[in-house]
This record gives sequence, structure tokens and C-alpha cells, in this order.
Amino acid sequence: MSFIRALKCRECGKEYPKEALHVCEYCFGPLEVVYEYEDIKKVLTRDVITSRGPSMWRYRELLPLDREPTVGSQVGFTPLVRARNLADALGLKELYIKNDAVNYPSLSFKDRVVSVAISRAREMGFEVVACASTGNLANSVAANAAACGMENYVFIPYDLEQTKITGTLVYGSNVVGIKGTYDEVNRLCSEIAGKYGWAFVNINIRPYYAEGSKAFGFEIAEQLGWRLPKHVVVPMAGGSLITKVWKAFKEFHALGLVPELDSKVYGAQATGCAPIVTAVKTGSELIKPVKPNTIAKSLAIGNPADGYYSAKTIRESNGWAEDASDEEIVSAIKLLAETEGIFAETAGGVTLAVTKKLIEQGRIPRDESVVISITGNGLKTQEALQGRLEEPPVIKASLRDFDELVRSVGKKYAVKM
Ligand SMILES: *Cc1c(COP(=O)(O)O)cnc(C)c1O
Ligand SMILES: [Zn+2]
Repeated sequence: MSFIRALKCRECGKEYPKEALHVCEYCFGPLEVVYEYEDIKKVLTRDVITSRGPSMWRYRELLPLDREPTVGSQVGFTPLVRARNLADALGLKELYIKNDAVNYPSLSFKDRVVSVAISRAREMGFEVVACASTGNLANSVAANAAACGMENYVFIPYDLEQTKITGTLVYGSNVVGIKGTYDEVNRLCSEIAGKYGWAFVNINIRPYYAEGSKAFGFEIAEQLGWRLPKHVVVPMAGGSLITKVWKAFKEFHALGLVPELDSKVYGAQATGCAPIVTAVKTGSELIKPVKPNTIAKSLAIGNPADGYYSAKTIRESNGWAEDASDEEIVSAIKLLAETEGIFAETAGGVTLAVTKKLIEQGRIPRDESVVISITGNGLKTQEALQGRLEEPPVIKASLRDFDELVRSVGKKYAVKM
């Protein structure tokens, strides 16, 4: 049972059949999925949603498939953690972490978009899936394609973190390293998609893929007890997730699932790759491409596909955007781990560091609800912490050596007398 009405051009509004299309043939605007909201309203109530299993498919009417998903049926419904320790450290009253560092199966929010994209690709009859990736998408496409036995090709900048490369190869994916930036990888993939007829999840079937990100927003609303937070901070690479979190909030509000829509969304990027942040700060409609130079490789897209729309979303919600230096990213990764026991990847460091700035700037008031979006797992970007953590002391297996260690470092090791 499908609730997809059509694909629609975000610029001129022209509608297209729900096929493997992604740009408007009249104005070259990007296409977006639109639904039969009146029909959805009749079936999708809070009770119906809560009666379903703990995955993002509990919102299935608002996701762009004609049938049941054929891969990733357990994706999503990750924890929304009340972060009291971090709130104290930041001087906030009500803080939550939406933790997609533990998303199934590949430990990033990309599992949401990929389970939608691959399921949709199969519905449309594609036999091969592929992607251009900054790392997490590679992991997720490879894992989910393996799970449903689909041939897959993954294109990455050759100098990605080793863990992200290993975490793609292990699934038996066809991985191709490209000597170039993500933006060059992406350009090549557009040509390959046209020539080989493969389903590139984030290129030629992007309208469907991107919708998967909405579930991140739906879950925040439900897990907050069917209300929206006042402030949400979201990391931006291509800029899609932030637009879809906002779309999710608007859809839930329009369907009467949350009482009011009074949220501000904030975008976070690394200083070494901040084209969207720059546009927001300078009030520009144009996104000026940059050449990325940051440890936050998962966010290193210099020419973001949804840059224009993400800046527009931020403005529409009265939010703001900020960037964080590599030094600030590392400190924030440590702060999150030490206060909440959550090990986020570099993108999470970016998001927390930016949240801290927005609080200090007074843009996020200390007494209002805040959600920080943690989108990937720190075990995948350990290089970023190389040499930044204290080495553990090494001693012989003798109590006397340990006693000596305790004496030499003072109070670090608690002794019960
Ligand atoms: C891809 C990615 C993002 C941002 O996604 P966009 O939708 O391209 O903005 C954020 N965090 C992590 C960890 C990612 O891998
Ligand atoms: Zn158009």
C-alpha cells in the first residue's frame, strides 16, 4: 500500500511519476517525494505508530516505498538520551542526544537512507546499487547490499580513514578509491550512473534516499513524548539531513501528531569545510564551493548538493549555523565521551562543538530544550584522536608496582582505607 503521490520539482513544482528520476527536465531543479497526506492522516495515528516495532518503519506511510522494506527492517529507533551530565557542563536545563552512533547495522544515520534507497531500487527493478561516499554511506551501502544479496559498487576518495575502508571491504563490496576529493568522486559517479544504469543511492535515486533521513526527526518527536524540541543541532555534509529533519517536524505537525511547530534548526560544519555555514553567516543565497581540509571527513563535501536548501531551511526556522575547528572537534568528542559515555565520530564532535558556541553566543537559551544529533560512531574515526589522549601507564603484574604507581600519580586511583 503506497502513499507516494509523485515526484515534484522543488523549484517549479512540476510533478513527475514516481520513477528513478532526480532532476526536473524543465528547470533542472531537484525532485522531491510528495505523499497523499489526506490518506496518511486517516491511518497514521500515535496509537498505530506506538503499536509497531522499534524501527524507523513504524512511520512507514511517510517513507517512499510501495511495499514493505526488503532490507534494513531493523534500522532506526535509536536512543534519545537525556544528557544531564553534559547539560551541566554546558549550563543547559534540558538536553538530549539523539544517538545514531548505534544505528543498525553500520553505526551511522546513513543506515536510514540506505535501507530506503536499496529497498526502493529493488522495487524499481535495479540489479546493482552504488554510491559516492565520504565513508559512512560506503559502510552502509556495503552492509545492507550484502544483507540482501545485491551487487554493489562503492566509490570513495582514496585517502579516507582506514577503518571506513575496512568497514566497507569486509562485506565483499566492490570498492573503488578515487584520486580526488568527494566532489570529484561524485562528479564521476554521475557519469557512471548515466552510462551503466546502476542505482546510485545518493545520485539518481536521491529523492527516495533522502526521505529516509526524516525518520531521525520523527523519532525525536515521538521519543520526546510527542512534542518537538525548541532547538536541534544537525551536522551538514551534502545538507540533506537537516532539510529532512525539518520536513519531518512539519509533516508531524501537519498530521496533528505534535501540537506545535516552534523549533529552530541549526547547521554544523567543520571550519575546514563550511560552505553552507558561510552562506548562512553572510546571508548569501549562493553556496560557494570550497576545497575541504578537516579531520571531519564524513562532512567533507565542498560542493553540497542540498547546500542551497539547507541554508533556506535554517533561515526558515530562524536557526543559525556555526563551524568548529579540528581542535574544537577533538575536545568535543572527549567531552561527550567523558560526560555521557558516548563515543561519537568527528561529525559528532563538530555538532557538539557548534552547540557549545551557539549557547555561548546566546542563540540557544540555556533554559530551553535542545537536541544534539549524533550521527556516527567514534570507533570509525579513531585516527582523529591519535596522540590526543594520554597513553596508559604500563607496569609489571605486581601489587608493589601498582602501589608505586598510585603513590606517583596521587589521587587518580581511589584507595579504600
Ligand atoms: C553523511 C553524514 C552526515 C550529513 O549528511 P548530509 O545529509 O549529507 O548533510 C552527518 N553525519 C555523518 C556521520 C554522516 O556520515
Ligand atoms: Zn522544475
